[in-house]
Amino acid sequence: MISASASSPDRNADLFQRAQALIPGGVNSPVRAFKAVGGTPRFIERAQGAYVWDANGDRYIDYVGSWGPMILGHNHPAVIEAVHKALEQGLSFGAPTEREVELAEEIVRLVPSIEMVRLTSSGTEAGMSAIRLARGATQRPRIVKFEGCYHGHADALLVKAGSGLATFGTATSAGVPAEVVQHTLVLEYNNVAQLDEAFAIHGPEIAGLIIEPIAGNMNFVRPTPAFIQRCRELCTQHGALLIIDEVMTGFRVALGGAQSVLKVKPDITVLGKVIGGGMPLAAFGASRDIMQHLAPLGPVYQAGTLSGNPVATACGLATLREIQKPGFYEALGQRTRSLVDGLQAAAREAGVPLVTESEGGMFGFFLLDQLPRNYTQVMKSDGARFNTLFHGLLDRGVSIAPALYEAGFVSAAHTAADIDATLDAARAAFKSV
Ligand SMILES: *Cc1c(COP(=O)(O)O)cnc(C)c1O
Repeated sequence: MISASASSPDRNADLFQRAQALIPGGVNSPVRAFKAVGGTPRFIERAQGAYVWDANGDRYIDYVGSWGPMILGHNHPAVIEAVHKALEQGLSFGAPTEREVELAEEIVRLVPSIEMVRLTSSGTEAGMSAIRLARGATQRPRIVKFEGCYHGHADALLVKAGSGLATFGTATSAGVPAEVVQHTLVLEYNNVAQLDEAFAIHGPEIAGLIIEPIAGNMNFVRPTPAFIQRCRELCTQHGALLIIDEVMTGFRVALGGAQSVLKVKPDITVLGKVIGGGMPLAAFGASRDIMQHLAPLGPVYQAGTLSGNPVATACGLATLREIQKPGFYEALGQRTRSLVDGLQAAAREAGVPLVTESEGGMFGFFLLDQLPRNYTQVMKSDGARFNTLFHGLLDRGVSIAPALYEAGFVSAAHTAADIDATLDAARAAFKSV
């Protein structure tokens, strides 16, 4: 770590104290508070390429990437230029713009399952709207989701499994009445038999099944080919809509998203993160038939004062144009693999059990002997060991997500030298894990 502050006061700690007096937990999104790993969250002052600098002036190689959007690295010149240009034309109009049309054209071209798209400001909004659209289009109430998948913090999705297949979920957050989640059925990821059974019991009432096509909110769990195929088949058989939540995986694991990697065609796709390039922008899209249920064409209401914001769309468009350059995903995938392969070798040397996964610019690792297939298995990870590793890396200038349920992200700005420096830090950190 390039330390500018060996003996000066800790500005991160000072800021955290000020923040805690004014903002619940000192943060505007809970995981940022370091509650799982302990210690003081770093207050970020600036970022460039693969690096972020905190309030003490300490530099970190960044594998959080704002939780996924920064696929080009921070402050990519083409993106910054596009944003500057947009800024000069005005911040928000609350009226349609040409750039929204261009972005819609780009999305429809890149994601063949999408014929029409609606822009929102967050993945939460897009996921919530996709659920409403599925219910409106099918005129059915029930939703199937999987334990360990996150689709934003809409009431109906903050649910954990009930006590059996006949019972629906229970809320995982205070403030969500039981009635609000009574139609949400929570199943185990990768459990084909349970999925079959759930559709056998509830099929005619299921509006949609929502899934993370690679579950990045339980670190990194891939669906088995049989499982994801069965999701598609059962939805088709029972007239339910398959909603693939690609907020994390979209334009991250491949240009066509995880649906192109898995070769599965959803009815509705939810996008976010990379699509906004770091600005508040998300989207949901589907066939023309399904999307025509949305207001003002149809009876499913959905709206947003800042939806399709002109600065956000400029940022998203510039980002989408960069990732289409030839060789982009090959290089990104290779760099990401060199990181996880290196981590695995370093762990082996240190005698630490570690399994890793990656696809495109997204990666995961578990302090386990075997890759987990579902949330229960993910939960067998040793939290204390993870925390030691996390702080061991952070102290050496490498920033990964401060919780073991989170995926990691490599950007196009990460160089081979950055990966080498990361692996040096990892070799040292593994010694105390
Ligand atoms: C991040 C995320 C969301 C929520 O997006 P926000 O922009 O944070 O509201 C939804 N689904 C998945 C899969 C995500 O990773």
